[in-house]
Amino acid sequence: MTIEEFGLPKRADVLVIGGGMGGLAAAAAASEAGAQVVVVEKATHPGGSAAISVGMFWGPPDFESLRARVPLGDPALGRAFVEAYPSAVEQIRGMGIAVGKQVQGVMTIGIGYSIDVRALLSHEVAVVEKAGGRVICETAARRLLLDDKGAVVGAEVRGQGGQTALTSIGFLMLSADTCPRAAFLSFPTFLFLVCFLLVHR
Ligand SMILES: Cc1cc2nc3c(=O)[nH]c(=O)nc-3n(C[C@H](O)[C@H](O)[C@H](O)COP(=O)(O)OP(=O)(O)OC[C@H]3O[C@@H](n4cnc5c(N)ncnc54)[C@H](O)[C@@H]3O)c2cc1C
Repeated sequence: MTIEEFGLPKRADVLVIGGGMGGLAAAAAASEAGAQVVVVEKATHPGGSAAISVGMFWGPPDFESLRARVPLGDPALGRAFVEAYPSAVEQIRGMGIAVGKQVQGVMTIGIGYSIDVRALLSHEVAVVEKAGGRVICETAARRLLLDDKGAVVGAEVRGQGGQTALTSIGFLMLSADTCPRAAFLSFPTFLFLVCFLLVHR
């Protein structure tokens, strides 16, 4: 089966494997930065764990509280999390996503905001598609394709239409099956991935 018959674009600036919150957020950021993005998601709908969560966007109130609770975490990532958290809440509001009032004591030490997480996921998909990218469900990455120097150049994917390879990728992001990673790691990891992605475009 050819790539055309399978319905996948021949190339993408960015291929994201896994359309959970992390993958979709990075895909939307890359799309806004001008990249043509393809997201492959093995489930019937995008969203991963976030799609079945209550959508409490929570964080530590300050760096000291975070370190007291997570002493072995990477301090730089922790600091980035604490510093970026308030503006991330405002950014979600700015997208027109419903955000509740701040609540205390989330996960015992945290503060948090209830957000319409399904609207946020839909927003991210729309950003990718508006920029000409694709979010393709029921399509699982089977293996990465390497060149003779060992560099990742593509991925073999299987969907309802059969199996094919997507090559000519500028950047590949793996964001598949990170759950049950603790929620406090998701946001800094997402930040790191977005920064990494933007720097290496
Ligand atoms: C019930 C529940 C409630 C939660 N509540 C909250 C909360 O209120 N607040 C909070 O901050 N966190 C919460 N969490 C945690 C949070 O939802 C997750 O940490 C976060 O959504 C993880 O996102 P992710 O994109 O990193 O991974 P995932 O959501 O795991 O996304 C990975 C995606 O990759 C796909 N995939 C896997 N393998 C392949 C493959 N080979 N090819 C293509 N696709 C593939 C999967 O189908 C999945 O959609 C909750 C989690 C659960 C399960």
